[in-house]
Amino acid sequence: MSTFQSRRDLFDLPEGITYLDGNSLGPLPKAAVERARQTMADQWGPMLITGWNKAKWMELPGRLGDRIGKLIGAPAGSTMVGDTLSIKVYQAVASAVEMRPGRKIVLSDNGNFPSDLYMADGLLKSLGQGHELKVVDPEAVADHITEDVAAVMLTHVDYRTGRVHDMKAITDKAHAVGALMIWDLAHSAGALPVDLTGCNADIAVGCTYKYLNGGPGAPGFIYVRPELIDQVRPALSGWLGHQAPFAFDLDYRPGEGINRMRVGTPPVIQMAVLDAALDAFDGVDMHDVRARSIELSEQFISEVEAGCKDVELASPRDPNARGSQVSFRFHEGYAGMQALIARGIIGDFRAPDIMRFGFCPLYNTSDEVSHAASALCEIIATGEWDKPEFKARKAVT
Ligand SMILES: *Cc1c(COP(=O)(O)O)cnc(C)c1O
Repeated sequence: MSTFQSRRDLFDLPEGITYLDGNSLGPLPKAAVERARQTMADQWGPMLITGWNKAKWMELPGRLGDRIGKLIGAPAGSTMVGDTLSIKVYQAVASAVEMRPGRKIVLSDNGNFPSDLYMADGLLKSLGQGHELKVVDPEAVADHITEDVAAVMLTHVDYRTGRVHDMKAITDKAHAVGALMIWDLAHSAGALPVDLTGCNADIAVGCTYKYLNGGPGAPGFIYVRPELIDQVRPALSGWLGHQAPFAFDLDYRPGEGINRMRVGTPPVIQMAVLDAALDAFDGVDMHDVRARSIELSEQFISEVEAGCKDVELASPRDPNARGSQVSFRFHEGYAGMQALIARGIIGDFRAPDIMRFGFCPLYNTSDEVSHAASALCEIIATGEWDKPEFKARKAVT
């Protein structure tokens, strides 16, 4: 039996629901409810503004950064939580291009999540210095890492297919030409082992509402390699990234180390929820999570392919080449997913035709995998998806 069976009890999973979408929004950790209540009733209420000192609210972003750092191979003092991932992408790219003056290219791939590309492109346009965002096929990235590249910005695990980039090999290639390497860990943190120190990544960013279960709108995080942080001039130079926020100087001076990547007032209640959520990872070895995630995803693929001929695997077949999700193409993928959701099996859909299923060993079981695979095959075999109510697109897919 799975070593994670007892962890499932840490989550408030609705009765009768098979949840395979923790790669989009992790489920509610039971402890988060009490933590949010405590933060409001025992801290905010009685302490009022003194909570910033008494309840150490001001230290939350760095303390949470260190907790996440343990899951991504980052030493203490190198990861900061705050803002949203899109904002952290902006900070990362801004810092990187400024550290490589004269180089005009930021290189990414067309498997990247659009927000990362939008943020980078928007930033480069605002700079008005002739920078270009170059977007190539994922397989062609290595060939485009040339000496005019200031930074390579990639998402480690492709949000649609789950394809994984080789972090060490690409980082080495970037460094060989003097470029900086930025990794987005949105679909990696809490899903598979990441070793930022081992692969010598320069900057990494990520979010905490997917595999880290921090709740809707939970903040993002940013890591900067310790040897590099003193050279970083934060592009978003908010007062809490200042060396002495409460000196209220008129001039900005970047704070010590990773503190300079803070911007403004942290969302204390949401961070308290994240703090409680991270307890679910205490004592967990990410290599065990990975091994179990591969078992679950291999089981899903083989059961779906055995029972259903009309879907096509969109994820890499080699489990070492994909993250903790499995995607199938189906020509009516949106309707197919809605039909599954109507049966209480929740995955999601990514245009144009991808049905996406995330596997989270902390709470997903092998029985759930079988249940989802057989329901998917049935829905397709019987044409159960072919109903008007399953075809009406909702705002969030
Ligand atoms: C989920 C995700 C985002 C979302 O960014 P937010 O600012 O948190 O909305 C950005 N990039 C990647 C790669 C993602 O997977």
